Amino acid sequence: MRRAYPTRGLNRPAFAFRRDWLPDAVTYYREQSLKFIGRGAWRSALCPFHADTTPSLRVRIETGAFRCMVCGAHGGDVLAFHMLRHGLRFIEAARALGAWEDV
Ligand SMILES: [Zn+2]
Repeated sequence: MRRAYPTRGLNRPAFAFRRDWLPDAVTYYREQSLKFIGRGAWRSALCPFHADTTPSLRVRIETGAFRCMVCGAHGGDVLAFHMLRHGLRFIEAARALGAWEDV
């Protein structure tokens, strides 16, 4: 299904990444089998990027940003996480997450 772009006159975007179509962080990370500990803006989970035994991955629930305090894996949103975890390029990851519109 096509959705309308925000009205911007004739300045149609040159690419089709739709950040607003990304899944929210809680839903996404649950689907990625991360189990969060804590209740604040930042939650902790076992890091999937190294053999973690104590929850070392910190995730900002509002934005999906993540950073591992042990192995240093980090990124700014669920898209960055998906690319890193599954070895995907930007467009592949955006497609996989339903955030790429083929124009
Ligand atoms: Zn790690």
